[in-house]
Amino acid sequence: MEKLTIGLCPYCGMGCRFYIKTLNGEPVEVEIYEGGVNEGKLCPKGLTALDFLRHNDRLTKPLKRTENGFEEISWEQAIKEIAEKILEIRDKYGPDALGFFSSARCSNEENYLLQKIARILGTNNVDHCARLCHASTVAGLAQTVGAAAQSGSYDDIPKAKVLLIWGYNPAETHPVLMRYILRAKDNGAKIIVVDPRKTKTAWFADMHLPLRLGTDIALANAMMHVIIKERLYDKKFVFSRTKGFEKLIKVVEEYTPEYAEKITGIPAHLIREAAVTFATAGRGIIMWAMGLTQHITGTGNVKALADLGLICGYVGKEGTGLFPMRGQNNVQGACDMGALPNVLPGYQKVTDDEKRKRVAEIWGVEELPSEPGLTIPEIINKAHEGEIKALYIMGENPVVSDPNTKHVIEALKELELLVVQDIFLTETAKYAHYILPAAAYAEKEGSFTASERRVQWNFKAIEPPEEAKPDWEILTMLGKALGLKFDYESVEDVTREIALVAPQYRGITPERLKRDVEGIQWPCPSEDHPGTKRLHVESFATPDGKANIIPVEFKPPAELPDEEYPFMLTTFRVVGQYHTVTMSGRSKALTKRWGEAYAEINPKDAQKLGIESGDKIRIVTRRGSYECKAKITKRIGEGVIGVPWHWGANVLTNDVLDPEAKIPELKVSACRVEKVM
Ligand code: SF4
Repeated sequence: MEKLTIGLCPYCGMGCRFYIKTLNGEPVEVEIYEGGVNEGKLCPKGLTALDFLRHNDRLTKPLKRTENGFEEISWEQAIKEIAEKILEIRDKYGPDALGFFSSARCSNEENYLLQKIARILGTNNVDHCARLCHASTVAGLAQTVGAAAQSGSYDDIPKAKVLLIWGYNPAETHPVLMRYILRAKDNGAKIIVVDPRKTKTAWFADMHLPLRLGTDIALANAMMHVIIKERLYDKKFVFSRTKGFEKLIKVVEEYTPEYAEKITGIPAHLIREAAVTFATAGRGIIMWAMGLTQHITGTGNVKALADLGLICGYVGKEGTGLFPMRGQNNVQGACDMGALPNVLPGYQKVTDDEKRKRVAEIWGVEELPSEPGLTIPEIINKAHEGEIKALYIMGENPVVSDPNTKHVIEALKELELLVVQDIFLTETAKYAHYILPAAAYAEKEGSFTASERRVQWNFKAIEPPEEAKPDWEILTMLGKALGLKFDYESVEDVTREIALVAPQYRGITPERLKRDVEGIQWPCPSEDHPGTKRLHVESFATPDGKANIIPVEFKPPAELPDEEYPFMLTTFRVVGQYHTVTMSGRSKALTKRWGEAYAEINPKDAQKLGIESGDKIRIVTRRGSYECKAKITKRIGEGVIGVPWHWGANVLTNDVLDPEAKIPELKVSACRVEKVM
C-alpha cells in the first residue's frame, strides 16, 4: 500500500517539511510538501533524507563489548547491566562521576528525558553539541538581551534593508534559507558578508569583508566606532531600551577603522562603508554561525554583534533581529530542554532555588543538584584525568565532532562505563562497553524546534529496523531500571510534561502540534496563544526589561602562526555533507558528489609550497596530522588553509576554550603543510 506521511528534515536547523512516500511500509522517496518554512523547496540533503534509513550499516540489536569483540545482548539484560553499573559508579564515586551527552538530533522529549535522568541521579553533568556550535551565542545573548534564541522569524529576512551575515555561509549550510536572503536582495536590501573565505554566500553579497581569522571583535568595534562618531545610532532606542552605552563609547573609542585595519586586514574605507551602510538602512538583521562562535572570544564576539544590532535599534521590530543560525535540526530544542549543565528546561538556572524546587516537585523528587555541571570539553578532560567514570552518549559522535581527536579517544578509553545510543556504529561507538540501537527520525514521533523557535511535530512513517527503538523508549526503560518514576506510556506524555516544566512551551501540546503541522513558535504561554514571531518587541527578557550593551575588547586567537607552523587553519562545511557524515555519508547520491576530504590553499601559497590541485598533502598542527587532496583556489586568502571538518579534520583543531561559554576554538589553529610524495 502506498502512503504519504509528513516528514521533518533530519539535517539542519531550518525545519523543512516534505512527504515521505512509503510502499508497504518501506520508504520509497521524498515528495514535495507545498508549504512549511521551506515553501516546497529542499536542498540536496533534504532530497536524499531517506537514503540512510535502510542502510545495511544500521544498528539493529543491543551490543556488549566482550573479550571477543561486540556480542549481541537482549534489551532487558543490556538495560539492567547499564543501570546497575551507573548506580554502582554513582554510589562509589558520587553523582558527579557520571556524564551525559544529549543530542541535537534527537527530539525535545528525548533530550528532556536524558537531562531528567542525569539530574535525578544527582548531577548536572549533561551537555550536548551546542557546546561546540552556539554555546557562546547562548551565553552572549543571555547577558545582552536575556533570551538565547533567534529574535525574529525567517519572514523578517525579506523585509530587512540590510543583512549583515557574519561567519555564516547559508548557501551551503542552510541552502533553503538563501531563498529568503535572495528575496531580501530582490527587495533592495544590501548584503554584507564577513568571512575569511569568499564563500558561496559572499558571491551574492554587495560587500565581502575577508577578515583575518579571529579578529571579529576588532571589526565590530570599529564599525560601532564609526556609527557613534557619525551619530548614526538609534538614539531613541538606545536611551529608552538599553543600558551600558556610555561604557561602549569609551571602549570603541580607540577602534578607529585605521587601527582595526591593522588587526583585521580589512581596508579602513571598507570598514567605514560597511558601518554606514548597516546603520543607515533603517531595518537590519545580523545573522551568524560557527565562524563567529567557535573562538576563545566566542561569547565576546556574540556580545559585540548584539551591541552592534542594539545601537542601531535593530531588535524587536519587523525586518530586524539578531539571528544565530542553528546547525542541527534540534539544537534549539536541546538547549530549550535543559540539555545544558547550568539550566533546567526553559533556561531556568540550576542555581535558582525557587525554580529548582518547582521542577523537583513536578518530577516528584526531594531535591535536584544546585551546582552547574561540566560541559562536554570539561567532561572529556575529567574522563582523561579519571574523575568521570561513566559516560552515556545519545546520538553524538565526539571522536569526530570534538577538537583534538587523540585527546578525546584517550579519555573514552579511561572510562569504566561508556554507553553509546545511536543509529550507526559511529567512530565513538567503537569505544563503547554497550551500544544501544536507536530509531531514526522517520521511525519515531516527537517534537523538534527549528532555528526560529518553531516547534514542529515529527510523524512516524516507517518501523525501525529489527530491534532498534526510539530514544525516548530506551530512556524510559533505563529510567525505570534506575528506579525512577518513569511511567510514560507514549511520547505525548513527555510532551505534556515539558509544557508543565518549561514556561516557553506551556501552551504547546501534542494535539496542537499534530493539527497545526507547520508548528508553533515559542514562547507560547497558553493553549489558546498563537505563538510568538518576534521577541523583545516591548521589553527585553532581562530583570529590568532593558538590553545590556556590553562592550568587549579584542583578544587574538590562542594560536598564531610561527616558524614551525606558519599557516592559519580554519574549518568549514560543504552543502552535500552533514557534520560527522554518519547519515549523509551513507547517501550514494551525496557521497558521489561530495565524498572526499580536501584542503583549500591560495594559489600564491601553493606556488611557494610547490603544490598543485589534486596533490596529496599533509596538514600538521600541535595536536596531529591529516592527509587530504589540495584544492588551489582564490576563495581562501594567503596564509590560510581551509578544510571541511566532516571527514576527521578535528585531529588538527585546538581544544582551548572560551572561558565564559567553554566553546573550543575550532575555527583557528596554527599549522604547516607538507606535500606527500
Ligand atoms: Fe533539510 Fe536544512 Fe536542507 Fe532544509 S535546508 S532540506 S532542513 S538540510
